[in-house]
Amino acid sequence: MKKMKPLPKRWYKKFKFIQCGLECGEGWNQMLYELCTKIQQYITDTPLQSNFRVTQIKEKFGTLRFYCSGTTETIEHLIDQYEIKSSITCENCGQPGKTVCIDGWYSTLCKMCIFKRCL
Ligand SMILES: [Zn+2]
Repeated sequence: MKKMKPLPKRWYKKFKFIQCGLECGEGWNQMLYELCTKIQQYITDTPLQSNFRVTQIKEKFGTLRFYCSGTTETIEHLIDQYEIKSSITCENCGQPGKTVCIDGWYSTLCKMCIFKRCL
């Protein structure tokens, strides 16, 4: 179980739909920011969808998981795209990576971070 961290403060200001912290590595921050920006844009363009909330952001089996309520097909589609992206992005540093199993735990890491973790 990963420790919950708060997101950068400005994120909560910018993305009012986020109601949770972060339970994944910082390497995914850039990707998460992109995803939230796209969701925010969609919500702004579609005011009826303003009841959308993100209740948990975590890593599971090496990929990004977004748990939310009030979601729509468009938002689901965006989230799916980023789940796929997370499977090729190092959770630790953001470099291109792949999902590996180390000691029974799945993580998506780049070569350098796999090396460091195996030391
Ligand atoms: Zn890495």
